[in-house]
Amino acid sequence: MTEAKKAYIKTYGCQQNLSDSEKISGVLSDMGYLLTPETDEADIIILNTCAVRESAEKKILGHIGALKPLKQKNPDLMIAVGGCMVQQPNIAEIIEKKYPYVDILFSTNSIDKLSSLIDSFQETGKRQFDSLTSDICFEGIPVKRVSGYRALLPIMYGCDNFCSYCAVPNVRGRERSRTVKNVVSEFESIVNAGYKEIMLLGQNVNSYGKNLEEDVDFSHLLRKLNDVDGDFRIRFMTSHPKDADIKLFETIRDCEKVSRCIHLPFQSGSSRILSKMNRSYSREDYLKLIDDARRIIDDVVFTSDVIVGFPGETEEEFLETLDLIKKVGFYSLFTFIYSRRYNTEAALLPDNTDRKGKVERLERLVALQNGITDKYNEKLVGTIQRGVVTEQIYTETYEVRIDNNAVVVADGKAEIGQFCKLEVAEIRKRRIYGRILDF
Ligand code: SAH
Ligand code: SF4
Repeated sequence: MTEAKKAYIKTYGCQQNLSDSEKISGVLSDMGYLLTPETDEADIIILNTCAVRESAEKKILGHIGALKPLKQKNPDLMIAVGGCMVQQPNIAEIIEKKYPYVDILFSTNSIDKLSSLIDSFQETGKRQFDSLTSDICFEGIPVKRVSGYRALLPIMYGCDNFCSYCAVPNVRGRERSRTVKNVVSEFESIVNAGYKEIMLLGQNVNSYGKNLEEDVDFSHLLRKLNDVDGDFRIRFMTSHPKDADIKLFETIRDCEKVSRCIHLPFQSGSSRILSKMNRSYSREDYLKLIDDARRIIDDVVFTSDVIVGFPGETEEEFLETLDLIKKVGFYSLFTFIYSRRYNTEAALLPDNTDRKGKVERLERLVALQNGITDKYNEKLVGTIQRGVVTEQIYTETYEVRIDNNAVVVADGKAEIGQFCKLEVAEIRKRRIYGRILDF
């Protein structure tokens, strides 16, 4: 009996990349590959890359460099690099010239061609590069999901917003939505497979439907999905403030299966910086949206993304960001230091804050947010929460993800992948502990 071929897949970056990797695994699994967590025993190593920040790119190039000895030891090993980073012509060129042992380059838009790229490489021994491809809206690619409780479901691909700092529209191409029929059909199969959390994915989910012939929008889609039979929770990521409105908030209010935790990236608290970022909303617009949502949806919670050190950001403008964070009271934040990206508008702006100054701003911001998160968590003590059991830590201790996306370490009887009810008991060293009431 011949041994099964093995594939090692490493994913960098966001949920969309994780979702792409689930397709890559699906394709390889159909080709007879088993997944391995060890590079040493792999027949093919695939790196699925990210282009959002320069630091990620440097790290990934370092990892590609570290694969050279493996290839020398095992010349039959195939190395494939795909995803956002290689969709930038400058990086594709670097890999082509400096890393001759990379055999295959593929893009987020050529995952459906991966098996033929592998076959062609094996037949000809010639490097296969397919990284600068046109936009595609994938249907029918096999998906091998990583998580047993949370299913990632792309409802659209690409982005048309061209925020001035961002590499995504250049690398992932123009925004295109999947049809309602295709989304609902995949959603139903996910629910039937027993998943309790379904994460709808897109760079800007609330502009869903713009390219479709049918007259539909994100609210319409949410209502359709909420009507599907079964016990599950719907999350979505990411929504853009310029496309969020009262209609969306009323939809969330009316749809009992949609999470009350909304991820709404604000990026900066200064209207001048927001305009330089090309975000199409002001600080006042953002604060008004938060007020609208709080008026319409009971117990709504916000999480967000923020960038510090955008070119030209003054101390006063940074203080406006801190002030917005205090005013809104986010549950948690993804925080980023501005990173200059190839072929973006902001890359041309003069930048007079040094790296040290930016790191210092980030530290102040994180300290402020930690205090807000701590206060929020204190308020959770004594409340009853519903969550999905994600992991078993000890015999009768589990990790449970509650609606605001926080993880509670809870004692009691439960079953992985199922909902349970718990009472939040205490906060210790910034971790939330609880008791499971029933499941
Ligand atoms: N489409 C989503 C997010 C995509 S990228 C949205 O618009 O919200 C995820 C986050 O990375 C962004 O929200 C932003 O905060 C951050 N980001 C993107 N480009 C960046 C850059 N050049 N430097 C620093 N952070 C960046
Ligand atoms: Fe990038 Fe802006 Fe598109 Fe988000 S909305 S992916 S930040 S361009």
